Amino acid sequence: MFSAKNFSPQQLSALTALILAVPIALGIYFFYPVWWVTLLSFIVIFLGSFGLILFMVQKFVYRKIKLIYKLIYQTKASKREEFYYKNILPQKSIDDVREDVEEWAIQRKEEIELLKRNEAYRKEFLQNLSHELKTPIFAIQGYVDTLLNGALENPEVNRKFLSSTSRNIDRLVNLADDLDEISKLEMGQLTLNQTNFIIQDLIKEVFESLAIKADEKQLKLGIKKGCEFPLTVYADKEKIRQVLINLIDNAIKYGKQNGEIEASAYKIDGKQILVEISDDGLGIGEEHLDRIFERFYRTDLARSRKIGGSGLGLAICKHIIEAHNQTIHVRSSLDIGTTFGFTLESKKD
Ligand code: ADP
Repeated sequence: MFSAKNFSPQQLSALTALILAVPIALGIYFFYPVWWVTLLSFIVIFLGSFGLILFMVQKFVYRKIKLIYKLIYQTKASKREEFYYKNILPQKSIDDVREDVEEWAIQRKEEIELLKRNEAYRKEFLQNLSHELKTPIFAIQGYVDTLLNGALENPEVNRKFLSSTSRNIDRLVNLADDLDEISKLEMGQLTLNQTNFIIQDLIKEVFESLAIKADEKQLKLGIKKGCEFPLTVYADKEKIRQVLINLIDNAIKYGKQNGEIEASAYKIDGKQILVEISDDGLGIGEEHLDRIFERFYRTDLARSRKIGGSGLGLAICKHIIEAHNQTIHVRSSLDIGTTFGFTLESKKD
């Protein structure tokens, strides 16, 4: 259909020329009723005004539009784009141009929103980071000052203060390691070295490496009954070890004295294995569950009991699991316990 809204410059010029030529030719016929004179004047007026209008439209309107295109694309026009401006652009209707500009405006708006979000994220990150740094640094400062002011010579407290200083230094080192890890992950520098391995074997290795810590709380670590059948996953073993260490370490930190930590692994379909780490500890309030994987996010309980680490552990886990194109999730109830689960790709032949 001939849509009045979508006139190209040629159509617009032709229509205007026609509107001009018809009444003038009829006027000439009225005063000088010779058909070929009328036809000739119609043709001359039509072609003349068509050419003039087209020239004007292209010169004044499309030159401005070309400028707009140059501005919105920001880059210098290449030979191909020059060809486009000269030959294709004039065929575009004003409506096409409006659509292009609208599309450009939407893209810019999205970019601005992304920049704003990044800015807010950056501010929050700096705020969190300075808070995380301040706590151990002030503690170290306090212990060192007290030691220098005389406590060093007091055998009853000097070792205690030094070991507290050392613990806070460990905290700073852990924070630096986690920050290093997360920045690498967020810069997308994670290259996966995927192999086939039995997930239960890796879980047992991690249980062994954390056994001393678990013993301090008389916590029992084990694989759930019925989940002993070896399941082979295809993943980056060292990265998954890190995920398991973070989750089991959390289960110990937030677990109850004499509690139990159980790991389970299930085949959920031919392609995926679900791994779960459950504890019967403090639990996480429902209001925190959505945010628990965010960097530096901690529940008030963890903060008030000062048992948290850098607050980056779960964010690191999420990055690693998502880099495997898999998912991680949490289920929890206060005072009942928590279960973290993640999926992995099943053995690759
Ligand atoms: P953190 O280093 O503080 O443990 P994480 O990112 O590992 O940081 O965990 C974030 C927060 O999630 C913790 O501070 C704690 O509030 C909560 N959390 C994680 N795991 C558990 C768990 N097994 N039981 C209860 N709360 C947990």
